[in-house]
Amino acid sequence: MNIQTNISLKQYNTFGIDVSAKYLFAFSSSDDLQYLLSDQSFKNQEKLVLGGGSNILFTRNINALVLKNEIGGIELIEETENHFLVKAGAGVVWHDFVIYCIQKGYAGIENLALIPGNVGASPMQNIGAYGVEIKDVFHSLEAIHLSDNKKVTITKSECDFGYRESVFKHSYKNQFVITSVVFQLNKKPEFHFSYGSIKEELDRLQIHDLSINAIAQAVMNIRRSKLPDPKIIGNAGSFFKNPEIDSSFFNELKNSFPQIVGYANDSEMIKVAAGWLIENCGWKGYRAGDAGCHDKQALVLVNFGKASGNEIFDLSEKIIESVKNKFGIELQREVNIY
Ligand code: FAD
Ligand code: NAP
Repeated sequence: MNIQTNISLKQYNTFGIDVSAKYLFAFSSSDDLQYLLSDQSFKNQEKLVLGGGSNILFTRNINALVLKNEIGGIELIEETENHFLVKAGAGVVWHDFVIYCIQKGYAGIENLALIPGNVGASPMQNIGAYGVEIKDVFHSLEAIHLSDNKKVTITKSECDFGYRESVFKHSYKNQFVITSVVFQLNKKPEFHFSYGSIKEELDRLQIHDLSINAIAQAVMNIRRSKLPDPKIIGNAGSFFKNPEIDSSFFNELKNSFPQIVGYANDSEMIKVAAGWLIENCGWKGYRAGDAGCHDKQALVLVNFGKASGNEIFDLSEKIIESVKNKFGIELQREVNIY
């Protein structure tokens, strides 16, 4: 077993925060993970599961055993009249999986192209973009329970998926290592292109025959034009969730702020664009030292180089306070803070 000690996590998180981990173990099979977990010397050691590190902010050195999931492999496990059941290892890069599915004609995740991170983290916050969430195609997952080292299968209904939410952020928090995920992908695509500027981009590309490949291409172009590339500027995507408020409160706000952006959701609440709220508190493009708020999308906090996790966190506190003071809405962080 190759366990690294006192290792910098800078290259393991897309914010590029330079903290150290007490131990780091990278594993490429569930057997290797179970072998490690059976070692009594790590029994009481705190553990932190890491995928691509694209939804994490480290604010301190990690006095834990970091379990870096590198389980690969993509496999078609069943084909039915309307679906393909496809299993992917938790360490597969999410975007590679999306491209693989598009090439094979497996439909359903094309709108989720270019989301950073790995397959294993995709159920954690029910990743979503451009009107699609993984709950739409999720079938089940396999995981290892950290305390008893047993392998379990967790089905969709147990995951309790919500908007950027799942059971893994609540009652199952820090209890499981997800080792693989099974997706139920469609033979017949259902195109989602009314969201954001997908349609405009398809028009610009002069695409008239829709395909899952064309949708992914449009999504990738929009994302590349708007979002900071973590390889160039450290970030973890949207730092905050879009708050959901009741429609009477939204209407009150609309009287005072006619331009406010909100969308009705399934539960008759209004999802307010947090980026708009933050921008309208004057934060867009803000920079203090190396911590800042992205100049094209205020929802994304950035590390221009050497910001510490605490500097980014403090900026997020100030943003939450100013949004609360101006709009009476308390933003919740989407990024996992350690
Ligand atoms: P990590 O950051 O490594 O981990 C995230 C959390 O999941 C941690 O709590 C970790 O402990 C846990 N975890 C990770 N892997 C496992 C596992 N195998 N088993 C158990 N627990 C695990 N998100 C969206 O939903 N939609 C977007 O459109 C989107 N766009 C983004 C754009 C940019 C530029 C960036 C930087 C991020 C974006 N994100 C988006 C956020 C992020 O990419 C996703 O949340 C992604 O799923 C995180 O994957 P990861 O492997 O990097 O997880
Ligand atoms: P955008 O298109 O500028 O839209 C702003 C917000 O309005 C988004 O957050 C989106 O909510 C919502 N929205 C837009 N059109 C909508 C519609 N037709 N119906 C309901 N809600 C609508 O957003 P963006 O920043 O460029 O991001 C585009 C997509 O990528 C979004 O889906 C966003 O969630 C996703 N993304 C996520 C992250 C992350 O880290 N979580 C980072 C970058 C981009 P939703 O966020 O609920 O979709």
